[in-house]
This record gives sequence, structure tokens and C-alpha cells, in this order.
Amino acid sequence: MRPGGRDPIGEAARLLRERRGAVALTGAGISVESGIPSFRGAQGMWTKYDPMEYATLHAFVRSPRKVWEMLSEMISVCGGAAPNAAHKGLAALEEAGLLRAVITQNVDGLHQAAGSRRVIEYHGNLEELICLYCWKRYRTRERWSPGPAPRCDCGEILKPNVVLFGEPIPWLPQEQAEEEARTCGVLVVIGTSAQVSPACDIPRIAKESGAAVVEINPEPTSLTGSVADVHLRGGASEVLLRLQEALSRGGDAPATGPSGH
Ligand code: NAD
Ligand code: ZN
Repeated sequence: MRPGGRDPIGEAARLLRERRGAVALTGAGISVESGIPSFRGAQGMWTKYDPMEYATLHAFVRSPRKVWEMLSEMISVCGGAAPNAAHKGLAALEEAGLLRAVITQNVDGLHQAAGSRRVIEYHGNLEELICLYCWKRYRTRERWSPGPAPRCDCGEILKPNVVLFGEPIPWLPQEQAEEEARTCGVLVVIGTSAQVSPACDIPRIAKESGAAVVEINPEPTSLTGSVADVHLRGGASEVLLRLQEALSRGGDAPATGPSGH
């Protein structure tokens, strides 16, 4: 217990134990320790690629070859990445019956690689390519290699099945995510700046529906101190390992480690 009696790890563990039906919402930050840069921040992709030029549907339709410069880099980086202790920690919590689903904004497939079974991919994934003209789909690994942008049999340049700015969220993950948010007991929000809409509405929906919100992030976000009941400040792997320890002990966490707000 820290001075003043506040022990955020112990508090988060208590919430997970007492309020069943926890759900995680993850963002780019959970994959940073797997070597995949996030979009925002000092090392973020946006320092290299202007999102308005590289990550909108409009930009893709106007100049798909240019947008493929960024997409190729993402596919290469994500393809070579392995799940870290945070992805594995969430899979272990699901296995232990303490977590029922992961809603992810990420497109890297690392939750599934870590063993999570119920994964709602809110922004799609890089596994598949789709033709915006004839809607034919392909496995990325069968159609893409570093070099020129991959083309459909109809001749058009293919788009990864990820949601670019200006595209709607596919209806099934949107429905599933909102249902999870409305009915979960605890929402654990990990590694998201909560700035991308409508994903940033999920914590608010959970909170307004009565869930406790636990945030894991080394930095404060717009959720910290408002929507989030507990902020576990630190990297996702370190914090999840400590949370798992606290859960396995069945009591409070020891004095050292991530601080809370
Ligand atoms: P973001 O880039 O806006 O924010 C990343 C957040 O992660 C920040 O709040 C940062 O403080 C936090 N963070 C950094 N290191 C961390 C760590 N070690 N542990 C925990 N948190 C850490 O990301 P976003 O909110 O997810 O929004 C960006 C959009 O782009 C999303 O759709 C996102 O999934 C997508 N994207 C995906 C990937 C991927 O699939 N891995 C990578 C980049 C961007
Ligand atoms: Zn086509």
C-alpha cells in the first residue's frame, strides 16, 4: 500500500475480482513494446507520415501508390512482430475467466497470436486485402510483397481491410463493441490516446452503463481523472504483470511499482 492508503494496482485487482465480465479496449500503445510504433507521440508514425496525406480514404482513392508507402511499412513491421507480455497477460486473464473480450483498435493481429479468443477488431486487420471496385478479397500474404502496390485481378490497386479515416466502422464489430461496453463490469483501457472517433466513445458508453473504467497508460489522456476510475501509470507489460500478480495473490499489491491518480 502506498502512503495515503492509495494502491491503484490493488484497487484494479479488486474491481476485476468483484465485478465480473471485464472487457479490455486496446490501442497502439499495447503493441509499442512489440516494436510497432504508435501513431502519436515522439516516435509515432505521424512524425513521418502526415495522416491527412496517408491515412484517409480520400488519400487512398486519389493516390493509392503513395498511401502504400506507409501501408507497406506497417505490413512489414507488424508481420515481423511478436506478442508481448501485455498481449499474453490479457489472454491469460481470459483463460482464467476474468476477462471476456478484447476490443482492439489495432490491426496487427497480436492479440490472436497471444491466444486471446474473443477479439473484436474495431478497425479491421492487415491480414486481408480488398478491392474497392469489385469487392474481391485476398489474403495479404498471398498477394503482397515489398515493392509495387498489390493489384486485384480486375487491375485496380487493393486496399488492406483496415478502417482509414473517413471510412465507417464495419457494422458487426461496431455492434459487438457497443454491446460489450454496455454490459461489462469493468473496462480496462490500455495504450490508447482516446482521440480516434468513434472508438473513443467506448469508455464513455461503459462508464455511463455502470462499469468501472481502469486505464493503463504511461501518460495521462483525456480519460484520466474523468472517465477513468483508476489510472495505472506505466507500460502495458509491466502493469499487466503486476496486475496478474495481485490477482493471483488475491490481495493488495506490494508497495513499489506503477503509480495511480
Ligand atoms: P495513439 O497512437 O493515438 O496513442 C497511443 C497511446 O499509447 C498513447 O496514449 C501513449 O501514451 C500510449 N503508450 C505508449 N507506449 C505505451 C506502452 N508501452 N504501454 C501502454 N501505453 C503506451 O493510438 P490509438 O489511440 O490506438 O489510435 C491510433 C489509431 O491507429 C488506432 O486505430 C490504432 O490502433 C491505429 N494503429 C495501430 C497500430 C497497430 O495495429 N499496432 C499501430 C499504430 C496505429
Ligand atoms: Zn477488383
